[in-house]
Amino acid sequence: MTRVMMASPGFLVLRVASEANMNDSKQMQLGMMPAVEHDLAARPERIGKTAVEYTQARSILNRATGFLSSYDFTLNPFAGCSFGCTYCYAVRFSGRNDAEDSWGQWVDVKENAVGLIGKIPAGSLDGKRIYMSSVTDPYQSIERRARLTRGILEALVERHKPKMVVQTRSPDVTRDIDLFHALVECGGKVQVNMTVTTDDEELRRAFEPGCPSNTVRLNAVAEVQKAGIQSCITMTPLLLVRNAAAFADALLTTGVKRFITQPFHVGSAQFVAGTRQAALQMMAERLGCGAQDVVRQHMLHYNAVRAELMGRLPGLGEGREGFAPPF
Ligand code: SF4
Repeated sequence: MTRVMMASPGFLVLRVASEANMNDSKQMQLGMMPAVEHDLAARPERIGKTAVEYTQARSILNRATGFLSSYDFTLNPFAGCSFGCTYCYAVRFSGRNDAEDSWGQWVDVKENAVGLIGKIPAGSLDGKRIYMSSVTDPYQSIERRARLTRGILEALVERHKPKMVVQTRSPDVTRDIDLFHALVECGGKVQVNMTVTTDDEELRRAFEPGCPSNTVRLNAVAEVQKAGIQSCITMTPLLLVRNAAAFADALLTTGVKRFITQPFHVGSAQFVAGTRQAALQMMAERLGCGAQDVVRQHMLHYNAVRAELMGRLPGLGEGREGFAPPF
């Protein structure tokens, strides 16, 4: 038996009483509706070194918690991420036993995601702050074929006016500039966050082996900004910087006016950039210290770079406050 209740104005919560494998008191979150097939443009089984699988998600919007609790929902079109950043905290939320070793080698496409969005009552996401994405990159390589993120945006634009922050390391975000305009024109809001973690391309390759280059990313966010879409450069986590003044100048040439920085954290606190062992070891080598001294040595570097950036970048936010919804 399925009972439908209003949990809060405009929001449906389903309580499923008869499912044997589900606790009776467990409330299904917004968007946990019967799977609806989305006609994906393509279903490749591999993208480069990354194995691709196709799954039916039970939900597509999750209540934002922890570091992102000032948002209403997080939205992750995929699980896993082919970009495979060595420091990625999302590993800890993947639910896979081998995630630490296999991160970057697999991605699950939530192929019913657009259908789930389509089931949410029209207008019920108006004004809701949605962070896309918290544990994957919505524009990683598979998106070029799957077009799932685009389908989700189309479904949102059609029936809702959300306030969206779109977080990525990919230049492919420029493909959807038309939808960002459409979202704003229909009464919603959007900010595109582009992450850049260092000015050192060799360091970038070591820590972010599957990611596009810094130059490509900066060109992309410049294009987004030039198109009139609100944008932000997130230095999260800020790794090591060779020349902070020149780095700041390079960021400013994009035309972007908003910036966020955050140190390279060691630990696994929820929704803080907790660091995987591989990244911790690399950072120790780069800093010329033992693993036990990484935090102190990195913070010395971080504080010096941050002071330089503060003097040059207007609107530089930091950490949790910096990540608060911009609208
Ligand atoms: S792009 Fe984001 S989600 Fe993907 S591996 Fe890097 S930090 Fe993790």
